[in-house]
Amino acid sequence: MLHELPKVYGEYVFNFPLKDLSFLGVGGVCDVLFRPKNYDDLACFLRNKPNELEITVLGNLSNVLILDGGIRGCVITLPKSLDDAIFLQNKLIAGAGVILTQLIRRCLELNISCCEKLIGIPGTLGGAIAMNAGIPDFEISDVLESVTGIDFNGHNLVFAKDDINMQYRDGCIPEGVVIISATLKTHHKTEKEIMKDIDSVLLKRKNSQPIGQKTCGSTFKNPIGIKAWQLIKAANCDKLRIGDAAVSDVHCNFLVNLGNAKALDFLCLIKMIKEKVFEKTEVLLEEEVVIIGENL
Ligand SMILES: Cc1cc2nc3c(=O)[nH]c(=O)nc-3n(C[C@H](O)[C@H](O)[C@H](O)COP(=O)(O)OP(=O)(O)OC[C@H]3O[C@@H](n4cnc5c(N)ncnc54)[C@H](O)[C@@H]3O)c2cc1C
Repeated sequence: MLHELPKVYGEYVFNFPLKDLSFLGVGGVCDVLFRPKNYDDLACFLRNKPNELEITVLGNLSNVLILDGGIRGCVITLPKSLDDAIFLQNKLIAGAGVILTQLIRRCLELNISCCEKLIGIPGTLGGAIAMNAGIPDFEISDVLESVTGIDFNGHNLVFAKDDINMQYRDGCIPEGVVIISATLKTHHKTEKEIMKDIDSVLLKRKNSQPIGQKTCGSTFKNPIGIKAWQLIKAANCDKLRIGDAAVSDVHCNFLVNLGNAKALDFLCLIKMIKEKVFEKTEVLLEEEVVIIGENL
């Protein structure tokens, strides 16, 4: 099948080691990584690819645990350019591959308030929508107006925000859809007002998260009415470690790669935490991190 890939303007890389891109620094190879040059290139690829080719779309790999056997078929990552972003009076339209922090910085330059409370989340706009990324008092869904996508057969789709019923850490975008752009609501604020939110969020992150370590953020979703980290601590899991996969000593809902962890170490650690938390509290934690690929 890999010999029948359509001609594209972007780039194919065969046997790409995904751990080189993954924030956790683990994961095997994908058969082929496709980096489309632009969204037309992506559409053309999807319309002409072999029918049986498995497709996985990834953003900045900041919320994924890619297993050691890697991903079969084709992994697609989107163009990260901000050049196509359009800033209108009360909205902005941006490509899904853009890195959230860059979008926020551009909004700041233009005195536009939009999703600045998501500063420090190291994902793409598409990944933020797929995950409904957020902090305790704000989620991307709060400013989302609509999403455009393209299905794995190359058909264009548009979803109004009200049609997709986004949930806590789940954008509820149908399977088999690549998010390609989004329209976000904006309003005017002064630079000082925007910076106040940015500084406050960044300070909280600095004081409570393992900045600079290999991690994929919160491992588990917060159950209703309680924080996952409180349950992890109550179950005495805050010092657990398997190989180089460890519970962070800064925030026990974050797992960190201390050097040469394997995805299997993280998988076993996640399983162990879930079991111990359930034994102690009868709460079954649900993963926020998206586990993808095959075991070796
Ligand atoms: C240090 C750190 C701090 C973090 N803090 C937060 C936080 O405060 N709040 C929070 O919510 N998250 C946080 N995260 C997690 C993560 O950054 C977010 O979930 C982010 O939105 C993921 O975006 P991504 O582009 O990296 O997606 P990826 O990790 O690449 O993918 C995540 C999921 O989205 C899907 N996806 C990605 N792009 C697309 C697309 N274009 N179309 C369709 N599906 C797509 C993937 O298939 C996958 O299922 C943190 C992570 C780290 C490392």
